[in-house]
Amino acid sequence: MTTGVGENLHALVRRLYPLCRSITGDGVRETLRIVSELLPLDIFEVPTGTRVFDWTVPQEWTIRDAYVANVAGERVIDFAESNLHLVGYSVPVSRTMSLDELRPHLHTLPEQPNLIPYRTTYYQRDWGFCLRHRTLESLPDGEYWVEIDSTLTDGHLTYGEHVVPGQVADEVIVSSHLCHPSLANDNLAGIAVATYLARALADSDPFFTYRFLFIPGTIGSITWLAGNFDRIERVKHGLVLACAGDAGPLTYKRSRRGDAGIDRAVEHVLTASGRDHRVVDFSPYGYDERQFCSPGFNLGVGCLTRTPYAAYPEYHTSADNPDFVSPNAMADTLDTCIEVMSVLDRDRRYVNLSPYCEPQLGKRGLYDSLGGRSDAKQAQLALLWVLNFSDGGHSLLDIAKRSGLPFDTVADAAHALRASDLIKE
Ligand code: ZN
Repeated sequence: MTTGVGENLHALVRRLYPLCRSITGDGVRETLRIVSELLPLDIFEVPTGTRVFDWTVPQEWTIRDAYVANVAGERVIDFAESNLHLVGYSVPVSRTMSLDELRPHLHTLPEQPNLIPYRTTYYQRDWGFCLRHRTLESLPDGEYWVEIDSTLTDGHLTYGEHVVPGQVADEVIVSSHLCHPSLANDNLAGIAVATYLARALADSDPFFTYRFLFIPGTIGSITWLAGNFDRIERVKHGLVLACAGDAGPLTYKRSRRGDAGIDRAVEHVLTASGRDHRVVDFSPYGYDERQFCSPGFNLGVGCLTRTPYAAYPEYHTSADNPDFVSPNAMADTLDTCIEVMSVLDRDRRYVNLSPYCEPQLGKRGLYDSLGGRSDAKQAQLALLWVLNFSDGGHSLLDIAKRSGLPFDTVADAAHALRASDLIKE
């Protein structure tokens, strides 16, 4: 791990945190602009009204100001204090209301009275405010001025892509959502880890082509899949990154297939690392794995989080702020991703070209070449394991699992055997 990468990840989270993102609009564009300072992005603008499978790209939402003021003109709920105060996609409002009329439009968390909840109304034209329950309890009856200076107009859905070219056109996709306003773990930590993962991969001359997607949740992945329908065959593996920065242990949610290459790679990395972690089976709720793993696509795409979707009390509240995510946790998620991609990139199936008894390794210098290695004994065993199980059926990852040897040692052994023409892909 590069020293200080955790601090870089956290700095990006803090910089993106104040922006009011939604599934469309300038908050998304500004987020992509800031990410593009670190990672060049191709920006796509898909017009309102575009049909994407059973969905339609919605109108674009622009928000300038929103507040509720008392008769004295004091703002008692103010979008300028926190963008969570306004229900995302609220339609414009400008009128006086009694507290009783206003009440159905106010959302609080009575169990967490000091936190502002996060709510949206994307597909139903409505409006509302979110506030601390404590604030609601302190509001006297009477008249209030409600102002929401927003517009919903035909525009675009915006998303960004970055491609790390590989030696082959087959792709690994890494996707993170960027549609949440001021929420750090659920949104920004995943964006930050993806950004620095792409930078790390670019330095590694990867085998696969890696395509990073920075997209609004649900409608963004549906739009991307619709636009890339004819080219989806090239996607061999994928990972959805979210909730990447809290203090909890890593959680991996398998693809719908359950034994896809990504599933086997992540499970191997997590187990081999000795980290506390959890692996759970696919379920059709959560993040964009829902779309990538819909039955028509059934892609080998899993989801890596720390504490998963909706499973922490700070989830979708004002407590999911930059203090809730740590440089160390994000760096740990990033390291795990780098290891996973290294496994995916080096995993192959080979065929032993000398399958009748063991070939003589000594005369080919294969034992001597191990002399300098601190893991010479393991490296020697790895040669024998790779030779024996390279039958075209077992991959290097299968061999690592079965032998209990580190994947890198097995992959190095395969590299040496290949150089001696004892195995071929
Ligand atoms: Zn969320």
